[in-house]
Amino acid sequence: MKEAGIDGPSPVFMRSSGGLSKAHTSIVTQLRTGHAHLNRHWWRIGLREGPDCDECGEEETVKHFVMECRGYRSQRQRMKRAMGKDAEFTLATVLGTEKGVAALIDYVQETRRWTGFMRGIRPI
Ligand SMILES: [Zn+2]
Repeated sequence: MKEAGIDGPSPVFMRSSGGLSKAHTSIVTQLRTGHAHLNRHWWRIGLREGPDCDECGEEETVKHFVMECRGYRSQRQRMKRAMGKDAEFTLATVLGTEKGVAALIDYVQETRRWTGFMRGIRPI
């Protein structure tokens, strides 16, 4: 069997993105590349005064949004639970495993952080 190239999306991601809508695949890709619709990104491209998170005031990076922000603590607890208690909970497992991506999509929806972007898009 041919080894997957290290430059392309991981086989796990390709399989897991197969069942996702276009919008959800796009969000996961944004989070994986760091070009997510979060405040640090808007600030970097000149569309915001600062990179700070609206929830807590810290810089809103992908890692902050997914792993750290205390404004989304209860949603994050549900994401952890959805991945299973034996699953390792890191940015890599959330963005790079099938269960992680599925739990992440629910998390993104629950935080409503992409509400404007998601408007008019049917949930899966
Ligand atoms: Zn925050």
